[in-house]
Amino acid sequence: MKVLVIGSGGREHALVWKIAQSPLVTALIAAPGSAAIGTLATCVNIPVSDLDGLVDLARERTVDLVVIGPEIPLCDGLADKLRAIGIAVFGPSKAASMLETSKAFAKDFYARHNVPTARYGVFDDAVRAKAFLDEFSPPYVLKADGLAAGKGVVIPETREAAEAEIDAFLSGKFGDASRTLVIEEFMRGEEVSIFALCDGKTVLYCGAAQDHKRVGEGDTGPNTGGMGAYSPAPIATLALIDTVMKTIIEPTAAGLAAEGTPFQGVLFAGIMVTADGPKTVEFNIRFGDPECQVLMARIANDILPYLKAAATGHLDQMLPIDWSPEPAITVVMAAKGYPGDYSKGSVIEGVDAANALDGVHVFEAGTSRDAQGRRIAAGGRVLNVTATGESLHYAADRAYTAIDAINWPDGFCRRDIAWRALKTH
Ligand code: ATP
Repeated sequence: MKVLVIGSGGREHALVWKIAQSPLVTALIAAPGSAAIGTLATCVNIPVSDLDGLVDLARERTVDLVVIGPEIPLCDGLADKLRAIGIAVFGPSKAASMLETSKAFAKDFYARHNVPTARYGVFDDAVRAKAFLDEFSPPYVLKADGLAAGKGVVIPETREAAEAEIDAFLSGKFGDASRTLVIEEFMRGEEVSIFALCDGKTVLYCGAAQDHKRVGEGDTGPNTGGMGAYSPAPIATLALIDTVMKTIIEPTAAGLAAEGTPFQGVLFAGIMVTADGPKTVEFNIRFGDPECQVLMARIANDILPYLKAAATGHLDQMLPIDWSPEPAITVVMAAKGYPGDYSKGSVIEGVDAANALDGVHVFEAGTSRDAQGRRIAAGGRVLNVTATGESLHYAADRAYTAIDAINWPDGFCRRDIAWRALKTH
């Protein structure tokens, strides 16, 4: 099977690493890929924004399956363009991607299909938005309707701060993304991410993980794209997974199909486990980054038949995914200053030594190579140090031993990834 993977980050490095292990692969191409991905696949330097260029590449190389990693090309309609020329795609259409593209669309969708979520209102008018705050007690949850790279949610503690944020959102704090605003009830509980493959009709459970969005230890400081993840998540008991599949993921997949926008790819449900049961925080329409890295480390099967079955409507013929009994953890190493300003170009040493450790895989999210072939930092989140082990403690020890083998004075990581699970288990 000739496979094309779209993207260049740590998530795509992990996908390529897992797909490359499949005996079914006859050619593996990545666009644009990265220096690290280039050790496993042939990289073609077409950016994810060049939809026509990517479609031409898939056609010229006669690929059998395209796997789209990031949300932006999905939300822009890359899957539709590929399907229009008869190519199988793991990734939803532009219409089905609305679940992630627009929070207002998503909330109205949950209401139409009885998917449990926080009470909400959608506003483009400040007076009505401020009046709606009467419905709730603090803290208040305000969300930009559109994509804001994980930064479009604020949770003010006071009414005064919430009103000031409403004015800021509607006057374009996040550009056009926040000219429409969702206000919702604050949900108390622990968060967990549940993943399911979907082929338009059938859904298949594809793992649970917890991530750490805040930059600082103890879950403090500003939000980031994610500083680490681990799987399995102790809170995701079989009973919880069953409830989430039945009350949240299956109705969402069925609702999308019933509305004429069947979903093919991976549904990523952000869940709050509240005292009233699991409720939907959000849906994303692709694998999480860095959650994908821990899932790929734990899936025992060949992943390719699953991705192909989701792309071609045959998930009903697949057995449940087999999981390695070993937990996995990913610790993100980021450039100092991230998620604020940071510099690029510093040299990173010791990654090969880290990779040589038992049970360790260093996925590269933002690196390139200089003229001498040395690894250099080329982004905010740079390395995803992933380890498996007999227990989560053991996996965490291995990940931090690997980090200690890496010499990168301009980088940092959180030393407490998986703290919640490690404390209680
Ligand atoms: P992501 O980075 O996951 O894409 P996002 O910007 O799409 O984030 P959400 O996932 O909707 O936004 O919200 C971000 C975070 O804000 C959530 O992970 C959660 O911690 C918090 N949050 C969102 N909605 C609520 C809510 N109703 N009650 C409590 N916390 C919430």
